[in-house]
Amino acid sequence: MQTIQGDGFTVTVIKSRRRTTAIKIKDGAVSIHIPNRLAITFAQEFILQKTAWIQQKLRHQAHAKTQRASIKKQFIAGENFLFLGKHYSLRLIEKNSKVSIIKRSQTLDLYGRQNRLSKTGIHAALVAWYKQQAEQYLTSRTLYIANQINLSPRSISIKTYKARWGSCSQHTDINFNWKLVLAPARIIDYVIIHELCHIQYFNHSSQFWSLVEQFCPSFKQERHWLKENSYTLEF
Ligand SMILES: [Zn+2]
Repeated sequence: MQTIQGDGFTVTVIKSRRRTTAIKIKDGAVSIHIPNRLAITFAQEFILQKTAWIQQKLRHQAHAKTQRASIKKQFIAGENFLFLGKHYSLRLIEKNSKVSIIKRSQTLDLYGRQNRLSKTGIHAALVAWYKQQAEQYLTSRTLYIANQINLSPRSISIKTYKARWGSCSQHTDINFNWKLVLAPARIIDYVIIHELCHIQYFNHSSQFWSLVEQFCPSFKQERHWLKENSYTLEF
């Protein structure tokens, strides 16, 4: 495999039948994808021009990685958990009863028998609680917005997704990731509007985005927030 040494990074050269040149940076690895017919000197020149941009991307990715690592949940008393963008401190309260969670103004109080207050028990209880909250909040909020903007889905469901916040099928069945209820309300509204707009445009065309903008004028900010902060909603 051919590589090019950049200023503080190494670039893997990948030649293919593609027509355009692109630099990809993933998990700290840089690669340049160039059309077969182009010489390696072209790639070298291209990288030289993009050096500042590559360095910035690499710094950014490294920073995000440390942030993600530091945010890994422990599922212990006193730990903070997000709900609608607000932090709640987890309180564990031993009680001879079924597991239940009550959200207070500053805390999430988890009641249950001692053997249920282990790390896995807490994790399971929180996931169940969030899913239940998501079902209530996202369903009623979606119905409300759907009514306002006159785009109604056939159904609304809550799912577990690894890397998406929502989806809309061609039959206008809308699904949301339950983890969305950890995000601030304005971010949730953007995702809801985004999925509802797919009822009208089943693509990401410019018409689609202008419809989103019509109902959510600041959508670029919300979209950007999701890109930058999704890791804080991880579970
Ligand atoms: Zn979409």
